[in-house]
Amino acid sequence: MTVVNRFFNYVSFDTQSDETATATPSTAKQMVLAKALKAEAEAMGLTEISLDEHAYLMATLPANTEAKIPTIGFIAHLDTSPDMSGANVKPRIVENYDGKDILLNEKENIILSPSMFPELRNHIGEDLIVTDGTTLLGADDKAGIAEIMTAVQYLIDHPEIKHGKIRIAFNPDEEIGMGASKFDVEKFGCEWAYTIDGGEAGELEYENFNAAGVKVRIKGRNVHPGYAKNKMLNASLIALQLAGMLPPQERPEHTEGYEGFFHLTGMTGTVEEATLSYIVRDHDQDKFERRLKRLQDITAYLNTIYPDDTVALEIKQQYRNMREIVEPKKHIVDLAENAMKEIGLTPLVRPIRGGTDGAQLSFKGLPCPNIFAGGLNFHGRYEWIPVQSMEKAVKVIVKIVELLNKI
Ligand SMILES: [Zn+2]
Repeated sequence: MTVVNRFFNYVSFDTQSDETATATPSTAKQMVLAKALKAEAEAMGLTEISLDEHAYLMATLPANTEAKIPTIGFIAHLDTSPDMSGANVKPRIVENYDGKDILLNEKENIILSPSMFPELRNHIGEDLIVTDGTTLLGADDKAGIAEIMTAVQYLIDHPEIKHGKIRIAFNPDEEIGMGASKFDVEKFGCEWAYTIDGGEAGELEYENFNAAGVKVRIKGRNVHPGYAKNKMLNASLIALQLAGMLPPQERPEHTEGYEGFFHLTGMTGTVEEATLSYIVRDHDQDKFERRLKRLQDITAYLNTIYPDDTVALEIKQQYRNMREIVEPKKHIVDLAENAMKEIGLTPLVRPIRGGTDGAQLSFKGLPCPNIFAGGLNFHGRYEWIPVQSMEKAVKVIVKIVELLNKI
């Protein structure tokens, strides 16, 4: 079976996760795909296959040499984003793409256009898998699953490639930030692993944000406005004052690369009380802590000019940059980089401006950089993936396994 056949099969399963659910998996339908993959792993002759009640599927491709080679793993996630329906996905291949607009849905006039998505022009002449405009595609991350399964089958079919023990895992609920939560790192038993969950071919990521959520609560004092002189404290205005004390250039809409930010995600306000919700992000740990300190300093200052319990700050740590775990073991990244170069692909090593399952796994003891799966425009109707990028991902996985035997 080709990687495309597998992909078309997997996207026929609706596996949308649900951020309001508390169970794992967050939706029972993810287990349906997990069971189908388990049957497929059995049919391929993989060993140590386990599927737990939380829909974490693991399997082994046994070593075919006596040589002492580290056990490594490849991981992808079962679920698709809650942002858009993943039911009745109708993928279609646009062969030999000509660089023009692609009409996804004639009835609703939905067009995938290089004027909106210029990356399309980098894939002229390739075969693009697109949606019918009514659902997401699910390349995030069923492309990753298809690529891992196809690479494993390739290794089975080519016993001349000598390799150590290879583990694979498919987990639920990545899109709701819970993918690593019940991942049994000990059972997986790998020295390190790679998530196959990135975008454009060549992407390789081992740095992500340090992240915190911050809630600011402001207590006002409401008095009849006609008689409010020297008495009223307007919580909404104090909230605006606080927001105005943060540097406007350090917002998501003005930052990129390694630049961190304060992002106001929501606010409520009356005279009596107001709240501000922020997320704070920075790759650099020191800068990250200084950002949080800055919010604390502003709070302290406001409490000197207003009654001292007017502004209250609540900081919740969310996730950390995996770089501190992965960097001391840089050979993990180098191996993936070399594999890409060997198949003629230029590695695009970039900091993730977000978090990943791999970051959480890294802090649970499984260093886990992220490798491209090939898809673009995740989480929406304009999602697409070049067949050629999927084929490259398969080659990168095989090459990593092959190179590992030589170092
Ligand atoms: Zn993903």
